[in-house]
Amino acid sequence: LKYHLECTSCRNREPDSAFRCSKCKSILEVVYDYSGLGGALPKEEKICVSRYSGLLPIKGDLFSLGEGGTRLAMWDEDVSLKLEMMNPTRTFKDRGSSVEITKALELGFDHVCCASTGNMGLSVAHYARRARIRATIFISGMANPEKIKKIEREGAQIVKVNGDFNKALVEAEKFATKEEVMVCGDYHFRKEGQKTVALEIVEQRDYKAPDFIFVPVGNGTLFSGMYKGLKEFKRAGLMDKMPKLVAVQSEKCNPLVVAYQKGREINYVRPNTAADAIAVGYPTFGFECIKGIKATGGFAVSVSEDEIAGGVRLLERKRIFAELGGGTGFAGYLRAAKENGRLLSGKEIVVVITGNNEGRFK
Ligand SMILES: [Zn+2]
Repeated sequence: LKYHLECTSCRNREPDSAFRCSKCKSILEVVYDYSGLGGALPKEEKICVSRYSGLLPIKGDLFSLGEGGTRLAMWDEDVSLKLEMMNPTRTFKDRGSSVEITKALELGFDHVCCASTGNMGLSVAHYARRARIRATIFISGMANPEKIKKIEREGAQIVKVNGDFNKALVEAEKFATKEEVMVCGDYHFRKEGQKTVALEIVEQRDYKAPDFIFVPVGNGTLFSGMYKGLKEFKRAGLMDKMPKLVAVQSEKCNPLVVAYQKGREINYVRPNTAADAIAVGYPTFGFECIKGIKATGGFAVSVSEDEIAGGVRLLERKRIFAELGGGTGFAGYLRAAKENGRLLSGKEIVVVITGNNEGRFK
């Protein structure tokens, strides 16, 4: 599809190399010309990210390491789990990294950087190494040491930031502006890669949309990307209805849930959750998540740290191994089923299990 980059706030157009609006500093989005949508739909048989190349903002082939095509496993009669730990670096982040590294190569960058709580840094470092370009990862001082070790093993340069994820984000953007480096992370291109989780769910269910999809939210890129992808499939006539999207966060870091429930702006909170993958105090795509929740008739739910750990243990009983952030969507489903069973009873539900990189399971 033909596309251009546009500011989500003032609608200013930006070139492919931009990562924020040059006028108002807001984040950008990929705006497609949907007149060619019919011809851009997947044709290949195998389900994987490159299957959706026509719906991605890339000119040639996708730089792919086999990301996507993860299993949609039955949990029980009504609930299935999308197992994103089956990706090359064991999280959904690889979907976005394949698109970002493709863009880096297309635009002629030989160095990328990103801010990370751990998983994104690992994924970007892995894809950069395989594409033979340099990577510099800005990582919060609070990050999981096991994840930092894995990033080091990928040969990336690590810059430890004295502060949380949002502090690391500021540092990464400063670095990218100064050096000739492409900043990767939770921006428009990654969001396009991450929308493929939703497209796969719909295709794996024979184009029958589920009633609800539960998604853990850190920076909100996966959630808002999935919402965008679902709108595109709906527009293409590939499914009859939109699933209701449910955002799940830890009570110890829930700026999005609070903003949604109180109907107000998103305010920064200091992350204090053991689910490090979603320890983001101010989600970049938060306002888009709220749009997605409202437009689909979904909701937002917080879960306690104990509920997250309990959900992960329950998954383990069926030999599904998730890290805490990865299993938070499942904990959200359990909480919602307990609190509001009538809403969910008899409904078809998909929960995205986003990853497994804490090093507790080998
Ligand atoms: Zn703008």
